[in-house]
This record gives sequence, structure tokens and C-alpha cells, in this order.
Amino acid sequence: SSLYKVDAWGAPYFSVNSSGNMSVRPHGASTLAHQEIDLLKIVKKASDPKWMGGLGLQLPLLVRLPDVLKNRLESLNSAFDFAIQSQGYDSHYQGVYPVKCNQNRFVVEDIVRFGSPFRFGLEAGSKPELLLAMNCLCKGNPDALLVCNGFKDCEYISLALFARKIGLNTVIVLEQEEELDSVIEISKKISIRPVIGVRAKLRTKHSGHFGSTSGEKGKFGLTTTQILRVVKKLQEAGMLDCLQLLHFHIGSQIPSTALLADGVGEAAQIYCELVRLGANMLVIDIGGGLGIDYDGSKSGNSDLSVAYGLEEYAMAVVQAVKYVCDRKNVKHPLLCSESGRAIVSHHSILVFEAVSASGANAASSMTSFGLQYFLDGLAEDARADYRNLTAAAMRGEHETCVLYAEQLKQRCVDQFKDGNIGMEQLAAVDALCELFYKAIGMNESVRTYHVNLSVFTSIPDFWGIGQLFPIVPIHRLDERPGVRGVLSDLTCDSDGKIDRFINGESSLPLHEIGEGSNNGNGNGEKYYLGMFLGGAYEEALGGVHNLFGGPSVVRVSQSDGPHSFAVTQAVPGPSCSDVLRVMQHEPELMFETIKHRAEEYCHTDEDSDDGDGDHGMGNAALASSIARCFHNMPYLVGS
Ligand code: PLP
Repeated sequence: SSLYKVDAWGAPYFSVNSSGNMSVRPHGASTLAHQEIDLLKIVKKASDPKWMGGLGLQLPLLVRLPDVLKNRLESLNSAFDFAIQSQGYDSHYQGVYPVKCNQNRFVVEDIVRFGSPFRFGLEAGSKPELLLAMNCLCKGNPDALLVCNGFKDCEYISLALFARKIGLNTVIVLEQEEELDSVIEISKKISIRPVIGVRAKLRTKHSGHFGSTSGEKGKFGLTTTQILRVVKKLQEAGMLDCLQLLHFHIGSQIPSTALLADGVGEAAQIYCELVRLGANMLVIDIGGGLGIDYDGSKSGNSDLSVAYGLEEYAMAVVQAVKYVCDRKNVKHPLLCSESGRAIVSHHSILVFEAVSASGANAASSMTSFGLQYFLDGLAEDARADYRNLTAAAMRGEHETCVLYAEQLKQRCVDQFKDGNIGMEQLAAVDALCELFYKAIGMNESVRTYHVNLSVFTSIPDFWGIGQLFPIVPIHRLDERPGVRGVLSDLTCDSDGKIDRFINGESSLPLHEIGEGSNNGNGNGEKYYLGMFLGGAYEEALGGVHNLFGGPSVVRVSQSDGPHSFAVTQAVPGPSCSDVLRVMQHEPELMFETIKHRAEEYCHTDEDSDDGDGDHGMGNAALASSIARCFHNMPYLVGS
């Protein structure tokens, strides 16, 4: 576990158990030992072809853990409760979940349900998000806030006003000055008094990747001048009492509490100014930004790490608001945050299989050709490299050894390009170098592990913005990994590989894939890897590059009985037909066309051999195997 730093980034939810498997602690720190769930058992159960009358799910598999969501909400609320009590703050915390982080129906419904005792609400940034938030909050706590952010047209504004009309605690947050005219006009027309918020563009800037939305030149929000104009316009319309909320967003992954306190302090000053100008201010909404320590370093030095936990975050916010309001004699506002990443990141684990590893059997190709045969074919300079390589290896000089090995390889490549050596010799040089590396205990050659996954679909932020997530084998963690590897996905795209990891290295310590998996006969034990902390953003951002769709999903709750769990939902991932439809293809018509063509070209309609000696496949068998392809997921199917 220390090799993968599981305790550093995984606590309190993930650890390695005594069987060497990744273990889930669904209730965080309050999980009792017997409540821990072995992740490998979940995967084996869900992918068992006999499970639930043949439902056996294909990998990749997203394991969703609602208990973790509940624990995150409770922890966030208790962190604020503690800070509020210990600071003598005179109001309460009432967060909203920004649905953009993960709009999955069950995730949002769980958050509304588990958040109900805390009056936890939702934040929407578009019309469909508002629709889903309205639907979910109809079953939520009536005091829960529904914060409407994002660029708005008249339809969005009407919908938000309608949400207020049906008793949802809705706030329309102005992201652009122009939105105000529509809010005033429509609310008057349909006689609904709005509750309005303004999003302030702060001067405080966070310098990381996620901070590009902050600062004076940030994409969103109103400048000081614009906020003053909004106040004036509302006053003229007799609606200044409608302005009740101040919102800002410093950026996601705020690296330190010092920066947070700086931004919150600035916003609190604006809040107090709005009070002075006569607005009916009640809420300060500090946006998102509560970060995740992806690499477990708690350094706050990069987008990968933040130097605080929930408690320190809450304390910094409460302290900063209280300090400013007390100095200005302003009543303490209700504190709202739009924490997304911090709520959902831990709740799901993406499990995928490494199906093969290139270079794994290179050494064996040497023995099949024979050293002398190999050497005979080489030019004199390459043979000299070989002699130097041997001598360096005997002296145990690692670096010199690598130097000669790489030189020898390059010479052989050049000879091959000139047509002077054959493919067997080219393969043998790789094998020979690998043997040398092994002999001097380096085994440095990095292998490529082919994983049954699409980076573009399931880890889009890795490809798009270089975001790193902890990736760990979910079993065999009591066994020292013998090789290093990079992960290459199934897409025909060179960007579809993972070659940067949270340890700062360009390869990951990995185990040999069980005998059998590698040569495709399926006898060996499967090798499963998990990507952790990816519950926020990745599902919604993922695309369908190469027409790979999303993973299968299981929803798993801790249940009574030692180490037992209940799968409360199992959904196969999108089939080939489903992803084809996304691109406007019509799978049913496609199938008919291909089937028709098969009838023309295959002159037998027998399922079995037609006796003409070519052992051809009959029409019916062909059609059913094509139909199966349409029906299955696009990922590799186990043998
Ligand atoms: N609120 C707003 C306005 C945002 O733009 C974002 C995301 O960037 C969030 C909330 C969620 O932020 P986070 O996931 O960092 O909590």
C-alpha cells in the first residue's frame, strides 16, 4: 500500500486489507472493521456470467458507493457546524451540490436524500440541469436552496421563476449584467417576486489551472461597477429587497486556506457593502473550490494537492466572514458553498482489466532464435556493442550497460532499415537487452499494459488537462510488483494512454499478468486496476471517441453481516447500438443491411458446416454473431 500511497490519498475510505486487496470503508472513519468491503469481491460478483440469471456485467465497471456520498455530506456539514460553534458564528451553513460535477440521477437523488437533514440543496448551470434539480428538490427539504448559475436566456429565467412559484427556494444568480433586465421584465410579467443573487468577480486570483475563472479578467461574474449598476437598477424597479445573495467562485481545487481566506474576506467586504447600499442580504455563497488531495501529499503545490482538509476549510471560511461582518456590524450571513468535487470524488471507483502487456515475453524469443544466429547477422560495430554490453554487465555498471544496450538496439534498427538483418534478429535484440537488464537487476524496461478502457470516455480530464488520479491494482497488493508499466487504452489514438501517475513518475509498479491472460487463452487470473477519486466531472465530460461508451455500473451498499455488501443496482454499459445512435446511426437498419448482404454472399443458411469443405459459417450463425456485436458493449469481451 505504501508503494501506491493508498493511506495518504485514500483515507478514510480506502485501504489495503489482509488479503492484499483494495478495501472500501463505506462510512469513512466510523466504519467498523467488519463493515469493510473487499473491492475485488464486488468486481468478481458483478462480472460473474452466472450472476442474477446471466446479467454478469462487462468491464469496465463503475462501482458507486452511496454510503460514501452520505459520509461526505455528513462530514462537510459537521466540519462547518464545528467551525460555527467554536467561533460563535451567528448563522448556519447550508450547502448546495453543483450538479455539473456528476448529473447522474442516482447521485443527485442520493445527495438530496442524504442532505435533507442539513437542508442541502442543488446548484444548476443550464436549463437541463435546472430541470433535473427542480425534479429532485420536489422531494427534498423545502428550505434547501436551488441556486441558478450559468448564462441565462429568457426561457431559463422563466423556468427559475416558475421553480420559485412551486415553492422551491430558488435564487437567480446574475452572471452577466444583461440578465437583470430579463429577470425584472419576466418576473413582473408573470407576477413572481424573484430572489436574486449576484456573482462577483473578485480581485483575488488563484494561480492554478482551475483558477482561470477567477480574478478581474475571469470569464464569469460582475465587476464592482456592474454590481453598483445592478443595485441602482433594482432600486429603480422597486426590487432591491430581492437582492439577497452574494456569490463568487475562486476556482476549483483552491490550493490553500490562505488563498481561500483572502477571497472570502474580499467577498465578505462586498457583502457588507451591499447591506450598506440597502439590499436585503441573507446569504454568502462561496462557490466551489474545496479541493481533493489526489496525491496524498497535502502540499498544496499543484492542482493535484490541497494543503487542508474539510475542517480547516470550514474554519477558514467562518473566520474570514465573521471577521469582516463583525467589524462592519453586519449580521452574520447564512453560509453556502457549492462544493462538488469534495462531495462526489470518493464515491465511485472505475475498475478495468489489463488484458495484455507488450514486451512481457520478449526474453523468450531470444531462446527460440539462438544467440549465435543473432550475432552472426550483425555488423561489426553492433557486435562490438554487444561485447561492451557484456563486459559492463559483468562489472555491474548499470548506466554503461543501458548505454550500450540502447546503442546496440539503435544499430540493429538502422541495419534493419537498410535491409541487412531480418525481423527475427530485430526481435532478438529487444529480448537480449531485456535479459541484460534483468541480469543486472534493473528490469528497467517499461512495459505497455493494454487496458480494457477508453481514457477519452472514462478519464477525460487526464487527456484534456493532464489531471492525475490514483490508479492502483485492486488485488495482489501483498505481492511486490515486479515490473513497471504504462497503461494503453483500446482507442486507436496515441493520446489514449496513461503515462503519468500521482507519484510523479512516468510508469506504475505493476504485477505480471497471470499466465494465460497474456496469450489470450483466458486461463490465468485476471489483473484488475482501479481508478480512484474520479467521481466528479469525469462521467459527464467523457466523450465517445472511437465509439467507446461508458462503463457498466453497480451501486453497492454496505449491508448486515461481516464484510458483506448488497448490489442495489446493476446497469450494463451502453451497447454498440447505443453509442452508434449517439452519432445518429440507426443500428436496426444497419443490422438489416449487413444481414441482407450476408444472405447474398454466404450461400448457406445452415448454422453449421455446409459440407463443401470450407467450414463456412451459415447465414443464421453469421447474423446472430453480428446481432450480438450490436448488443454488446464496445469493450473487449472476455473469452
Ligand atoms: N460553482 C461554480 C460556479 C463552479 O464553476 C464550479 C466548478 O468549477 C463549482 C461550483 C464546483 O467546484 P468544485 O468542484 O471545485 O467544488
